[in-house]
Amino acid sequence: MSQVSDRLSRIPQISVLLEDERILPWLAAGQRGWMTRLVQSEVDALREELRTARGRVRERGELIDLLCGRIAARRKMLLAPSWTRVLNGTGVVVHTNLGRSCFPQSAADAAWTVARYNSDLEFDLEEGVRGHRGRRVEEKLALLADAPDALIVNNNAAAVWLAVRYLSRGGRVVLSRGEIVAIGGSFRIHEILAETGCTLVEVGTTNRTSVEDYRQALGPDTIVLKVHRSNFSVEGFTEEVGLPELAGLCREHDCPLVYDAGSGALYPYEKLGLPTGERLLAEDLAAGADLVTCSGDKLLGGCQAGAILGSSDHVAGLRKHPMRRAFRVDKTTLAALDDVLTHYLATDDRPEVPTLEQLGATLPQLQEKAEGLLEKLAPLAPARWHGTVVPGRSSVGGGSFSSTTIESRLVLFEASKKELERVHQELRRGDPALVGRMNQEGLAVDVRTLDESDLDLVVAAYRRAWESIAPNAGKHGSNDD
Ligand SMILES: *Cc1c(COP(=O)(O)O)cnc(C)c1O
Repeated sequence: MSQVSDRLSRIPQISVLLEDERILPWLAAGQRGWMTRLVQSEVDALREELRTARGRVRERGELIDLLCGRIAARRKMLLAPSWTRVLNGTGVVVHTNLGRSCFPQSAADAAWTVARYNSDLEFDLEEGVRGHRGRRVEEKLALLADAPDALIVNNNAAAVWLAVRYLSRGGRVVLSRGEIVAIGGSFRIHEILAETGCTLVEVGTTNRTSVEDYRQALGPDTIVLKVHRSNFSVEGFTEEVGLPELAGLCREHDCPLVYDAGSGALYPYEKLGLPTGERLLAEDLAAGADLVTCSGDKLLGGCQAGAILGSSDHVAGLRKHPMRRAFRVDKTTLAALDDVLTHYLATDDRPEVPTLEQLGATLPQLQEKAEGLLEKLAPLAPARWHGTVVPGRSSVGGGSFSSTTIESRLVLFEASKKELERVHQELRRGDPALVGRMNQEGLAVDVRTLDESDLDLVVAAYRRAWESIAPNAGKHGSNDD
């Protein structure tokens, strides 16, 4: 018998595993269907593994133990919630992998209420007939963005698709080669355009596109799309046609203009000390775009959603589009977004929305927060761990202000690289998990993205992680090596 078939011949039968006393009780609990499939998939995975395995051939009993362990671990994972709360120590405010913007508490409460109970989402309580409560959210957004009307959909990708599909009606869409962008893993603008059934007409070059380039491409059945370069910048020998100028050209040729604004700024970010350059949605519309699209969970600080803003006629047309239904948002989204927009309406100053609060935190505030955190952490740290408050830089993230970083304060711990990595891993394994930042100097957390009210959780996370590498470390001021 060859080595490989010898190895494979020792894999237990599914029926043997299903009879095993470690697995049998789960089948009796009425979970036979999916548990059997789980057992099958673990056996399949093991077979694949053993095909290319090297070293000692393992006995059947050993393989049964191994499989039972894996099956139990996977079952445990499946019966638990699929995600864990994370304390964001990365300093990236709108962190795409950590769920982008965080709701204000009131938005979370609003979403919870409509999720848990019945509501008048599509009911007119006054008249007792069908209503359009969702419209009120759109009205709030339109007022804030100084738009005649607005439509809310699932995300900006859907907004771009719908806006282009509606205005181009399968005709030509002119786009600068400098704006054929990829955002995140799956938003590639030319692929989305292809799905609208339009013909993409690329103009200009990667670094330079002129008015003349656009002019030559305009004609009948043609719209122009301009896309915000959210997550990259072009430097050197460059030329770009600004929105107002492009809008003028489009008007001359009677070609509609769609602008994908990306972030959806409703607040003048220079007031938070960020560089200007991120135009407000109201300015995009005033510049002459027929439809403007944006995300709800980037700079706006709300939840995953997309918005299309523009004239009442266009938005009414979009509302009637047959694909609109496919992009419709859930009631929890509407409720959360409604609350976030209400925060914007309620103040002339910075709205009480976590994304804006984090971006707007001042250096003295951050310094104080960092010192407070270090004060609590230092007595718990193993002796070899040296903690300090150091300057560092946060970033906005979420494809906004791509090349901008903001000065911040970090709590940095220096130790051996091996220990730093061990502890960072332990921090990530906690619940809530803590994700920090590893750099040349050590393991750091940027306090900008940690809520004041979460600092005790951060301390508890470190305590657990340190105890796992050096039990009793902090208590006796020494460690166990
Ligand atoms: C982020 C972004 C998108 C995608 O937005 P989602 O809401 O994630 O679908 C599209 N275009 C631009 C310019 C963006 O910045």
